[in-house]
Amino acid sequence: MSIYQVNEKGYYGPFGGAYIPEMLYPNVEELREEYLKIIEEKSFQEEFNQLLRDYVGRPSPLYHAKRLSEKYGTTIYLKREDLNHTGAHKINNTIGQILLAERLGKKRIIAETGAGQHGVATATVCALKGIQCAVYMGEIDIQRQAPNVARMKMMGAEVIAATSGSKTLKDATNEALRDWINNPIDTHYIIGSVVGPHPYPDMVARFQSIISEETKKQLLEKTGKATPDMVLACVGGGSNAAGMFYHFLDEESVQLYAVEAAGHGVHSGESAATTALGKEGVLHGSRSILMQTEDGQVVEPYSISAGLDYPGIGPQHAWLFRSGRGNYVSITDDEAMQAGLELTRLEGIIPAIESAHALAYLAKIPFKGDETVVICLSGRGDKDLDNYMKYFDF
Ligand SMILES: *Cc1c(COP(=O)(O)O)cnc(C)c1O
Repeated sequence: MSIYQVNEKGYYGPFGGAYIPEMLYPNVEELREEYLKIIEEKSFQEEFNQLLRDYVGRPSPLYHAKRLSEKYGTTIYLKREDLNHTGAHKINNTIGQILLAERLGKKRIIAETGAGQHGVATATVCALKGIQCAVYMGEIDIQRQAPNVARMKMMGAEVIAATSGSKTLKDATNEALRDWINNPIDTHYIIGSVVGPHPYPDMVARFQSIISEETKKQLLEKTGKATPDMVLACVGGGSNAAGMFYHFLDEESVQLYAVEAAGHGVHSGESAATTALGKEGVLHGSRSILMQTEDGQVVEPYSISAGLDYPGIGPQHAWLFRSGRGNYVSITDDEAMQAGLELTRLEGIIPAIESAHALAYLAKIPFKGDETVVICLSGRGDKDLDNYMKYFDF
């Protein structure tokens, strides 16, 4: 077993575990007991792979970005998660979890969402399966993210406003947890990243590991070698990065770059650069690294990209950072926006601003010229057009 994967107690080094209120114990314990058995069943694997192929459109291409490669003087491939149905990697996880929920006999799905991307991915698979769906969303986020609210409603999901506290993601999370406590038998809670109590981080990483599984095969076909020299991915909670790293964790020759959002600058007071600023603590049910004040209050994060605007990282990332296996770096709003425009002009691909953070880090690596580099293009930029237009004054 890899030292970078979860152990039988639910930990990655000192990180992970399940720090949950007593009343959630039955829900999480049922998942913990059942998830591996179910995921490894042949019928589960067959249905999962069939939906990834026919519904999501996998395998996503591994695209040799020639003009981008020329610009940086090395060989760069893009793993095109932006071409997935619903426009990002999140659907890989929600499909996995809906199939799991079905097999656990659940009749209802709940989720929380900030910008609405995870809510849309969840509402989508609930429509696909005809399962009742409630998405908790902060009242302020509901106002800010009207198109995603419309998508969820069109899919038949109920969008429930969280009206307490700052009326944003963390309040939506609290209300979703309260719902789950009150509905332990019939409801499954779909978490959208590699965060939360064990077994969520491991479960979500397994569903996203299809990203590196395909990358290895595709690289072998294209280059005769299954391992790149480096892979890069952006990190909010860390699910696309966990999927991109998964099958390379034990191949120490592969350098792993995890790119966080530095917002207006790491030390500007407006950032989401968790490893640079954070300390060990417990957030959303697991021990990890998070941005907090001296007395342990969670600090409000900031990034221009909603998907990276999270005050922590999943426990596996905390361990990859602490152990030195991964390089945890950060990119500012400005650098990301320029990199998003650059990819658009060089390759005709408008990336999500989240993904643009990973692209921006290319400029900081001193390439020798003979490297093979894979970047996880986690999502497409359609949802960010307003932001791009305002920023560049188009
Ligand atoms: C949600 C999102 C992210 C951040 O989530 P991770 O769990 O860190 O992958 C990154 N990119 C896109 C396009 C997203 O929608």
